[in-house]
Amino acid sequence: MQYRSTRDQAAKQMTAPEAILQGLAPDGGLFVPQSFPQPDYDLGALVNAPYQEVATTIWGWFFDDFSLASRQAIVRGAYGEQWDDSQIAPLSERVAGNYYLELFHGPTLAFKDVALQALPRLMKEAVTVTGDDKQIIILTATSGDTGSAAMRGFSDVTGTQVVVFYPDGGVSPVQLRQMLAMKGDNLAAVAVAGNFDDAQTEVKKIFNDQEFAARLAQAGDRFSSANSMNIGRLIPQLTYYFTAYGQLVKRGEVELGAPVNFAVPTGNFGDILAGYYAKKLGLPIKKLLCASNQNRVLTDFFATGHYDRRRPFHLTTAPAMDILVSSNLERLLFDLYDQEAGAVASLMKELNQTGEYQVTDEVLKRLHQDFVADWASEEEISEEIRRIYLAADYVIDPHTAVGSVVAHRYKERTGDNTPMVVVATASPYKFAETVYPAVTGKETAARGLQAIQGLNEFLGEELSPGVKALFEGDQRSEQRVEPSEMAQLIEKRLGLTSEQKE
Ligand SMILES: *Cc1c(COP(=O)(O)O)cnc(C)c1O
Repeated sequence: MQYRSTRDQAAKQMTAPEAILQGLAPDGGLFVPQSFPQPDYDLGALVNAPYQEVATTIWGWFFDDFSLASRQAIVRGAYGEQWDDSQIAPLSERVAGNYYLELFHGPTLAFKDVALQALPRLMKEAVTVTGDDKQIIILTATSGDTGSAAMRGFSDVTGTQVVVFYPDGGVSPVQLRQMLAMKGDNLAAVAVAGNFDDAQTEVKKIFNDQEFAARLAQAGDRFSSANSMNIGRLIPQLTYYFTAYGQLVKRGEVELGAPVNFAVPTGNFGDILAGYYAKKLGLPIKKLLCASNQNRVLTDFFATGHYDRRRPFHLTTAPAMDILVSSNLERLLFDLYDQEAGAVASLMKELNQTGEYQVTDEVLKRLHQDFVADWASEEEISEEIRRIYLAADYVIDPHTAVGSVVAHRYKERTGDNTPMVVVATASPYKFAETVYPAVTGKETAARGLQAIQGLNEFLGEELSPGVKALFEGDQRSEQRVEPSEMAQLIEKRLGLTSEQKE
């Protein structure tokens, strides 16, 4: 299996370990399979296997440069005791007409753990496979959850340094606490004066700075990315679409081969793209519902074919989805344009230069074959948390609520009664300041840990180990930079001082 950049017309090839170590292609494009795998497999046998086995099989289709033994070892390490549910991604009972796929049972309480417990292990093995033993510098822009999950995943992993940039004032109190309290001498989290897109744009720029890269190489370092642009993050996310389907089949809710729908709370388009890849591999998915919050750039794009990031940026109660440039959409465009890298490159150039682009009617039509898009307002988010709680005693977080609103409205509008899985991307405790007032109907000024305590007392549940851990440990003090100072901060952190520049 070879990989190539979405923007490279020459389609230069690279192995999976190389692509995982590089993170992002030098031309700014994203790595995609040179030719998408078309494995011959028994769907019933696959989806009925334990999570770890399903992951090992799927990774074999995409990561065949890793031996079976190393894939098995990585999967065992990534999906072990650090999860508070042995199924890793359990599916709820039917709740108010839908199933909730709980992806928040990992150590940082959000779905990013699924990939970020795997990525550091994949990178370590990639270093062995390629023989390239430069220190890996993980640069990551985060809307909150990637930061803590990446820091947790790479904590004290030898040969790696992690620098996480998050929007100042744009992450939840728990997300902030997790990042500042994460133990590990190789970790740094830095606030950027700006929003997520500002941070992500600057990170991409630093990545593509050839002069910086050369200096790094001289010092024995290389950049890589833990963002969902990294193919090593994307592929591990395919697994739970298959195991969710398996759980429905096992319970007799779905006949093997019959279709299901997934509603996916979407920001950078990584989670839902994994669902699309699962569908391409033959998993019977009818529609993927792309659910946005008030930053509804994708809803508008799916309606008109016009991508337009020139709009006000809203800070919402679902901050992991406060994004106006959804990077992974580029991988979908690559498919919709029949793998024409030139077309993708020019759209991305337009987006960069003018903040907008328009796809053809034909492409828009193809988009609607697999996807439906809609969004939820702030008010709808808290109403939905309350509705689901009152209907079924089940508590969802604000991101999951966005998916839930969109799923509910889709079913009412279309009458489509295909079984619907709402992807539950975070623990409600991670965003307790929003969940508490929604379920209790009472206003509260409590935020962060205090709000968690309030919610916990109200629900009278045993807290999971991951939530309990939030109350332990000291935190670092906050560090804040302007976007223009990010590169300098990295140089300082890595000891690439200006004297060494000459
Ligand atoms: C990252 C995140 C999302 C959005 O996922 P994308 O892959 O960026 O689309 C949704 N919900 C939560 C809780 C997240 O952490």
